Amino acid sequence: MVSGIQLMEKVLFKVAKQWIAGDTIDDALTSAKNAYQSERHAIINKLGEYHTSKKQIKSTVDEYQKIVNSFRKWKVRGAISVKPTQIGLSISQKECYRNFEKIIRKARDSHVFVWLDMESADHTDETIEIYNAFFSKYERLGIALQANLKRTEDDVNNLLRIGAKIRLVKGAYREKASISFKSKEDVDKNYLKLMKMLFKKGNEFAIASHDGKIIQKAVNLSKKYPKKFEFQMLKGIRDELKVKLVKKKFVVSDYIPYGVNWLPYSFRRIKERKRNILLLGSSLIQSQRV
Ligand SMILES: Cc1cc2nc3c(=O)[nH]c(=O)nc-3n(C[C@H](O)[C@H](O)[C@H](O)COP(=O)(O)OP(=O)(O)OC[C@H]3O[C@@H](n4cnc5c(N)ncnc54)[C@H](O)[C@@H]3O)c2cc1C
Repeated sequence: MVSGIQLMEKVLFKVAKQWIAGDTIDDALTSAKNAYQSERHAIINKLGEYHTSKKQIKSTVDEYQKIVNSFRKWKVRGAISVKPTQIGLSISQKECYRNFEKIIRKARDSHVFVWLDMESADHTDETIEIYNAFFSKYERLGIALQANLKRTEDDVNNLLRIGAKIRLVKGAYREKASISFKSKEDVDKNYLKLMKMLFKKGNEFAIASHDGKIIQKAVNLSKKYPKKFEFQMLKGIRDELKVKLVKKKFVVSDYIPYGVNWLPYSFRRIKERKRNILLLGSSLIQSQRV
């Protein structure tokens, strides 16, 4: 008999499937290939965070190395996106650096771009430190910064001074009011301010948002400041807009997560949008009818 929790998990997975490639590296590369056929680039992320088991960390590092090696064979234009806590930061900085070094070495051999995801605010300083340490050795490295944090304006300024490649996001983590903007209006206002800074002073940055208003403003800014930049969106979200942007010759990347650890990622996506909660509710009702 299926328990309540099992049923809930089954339903959640049905909803989450739209955002996740599947369990395996081959699923992720297949999604990347589909993106490539639609003239989009791919950014592959293995799901999972806050790992403390060395075995789990090793397997994550091995998989990133394998993906980096596979892009050419699979004929996809791709990057990877790594969370520091999935490669050892929850054990120690030393462990994380040692593992990131292994990934970067493979990325360098294959000329693959690597992004550092930004996690909750407890890890912002450490993630920027990792970025600084590795960017001086490997230039095809980018870092995500979150517009919901008050500190980010200073971080953008400091990082642009060294020529950093920045992915600007609104921020997916719930943060304390003392350090973050809480209302959507304030986060959006800060996003627009930081985005303008990127267009004026940055290069090779990423506008990572599904927000039509923000994307339109970026399109307008790109006419005034002709910079190398790309739009990044999550797999399965706003696909119609991606097609329009590609038609207009903008570079668009799909962020493609894969793996069995899909629950926290899916909760973040569900919380982002009322309609996703409704989708979850209606899937639950349907599954009970069957
Ligand atoms: C490529 C990429 C990488 C990211 N990396 C990080 C990271 O490293 N660290 C981090 O904290 N966050 C990251 N995020 C998540 C980000 O911080 C936001 O939580 C997420 O993008 C939602 O914000 P939004 O800009 O789309 O705007 P929102 O204000 O959330 O949404 C604006 C509009 O976009 C559409 N939309 C937004 N989300 C959804 C959805 N789930 N389903 C359907 N439609 C939707 C809706 O039309 C909505 O009205 C990343 C996002 C992207 C796209």
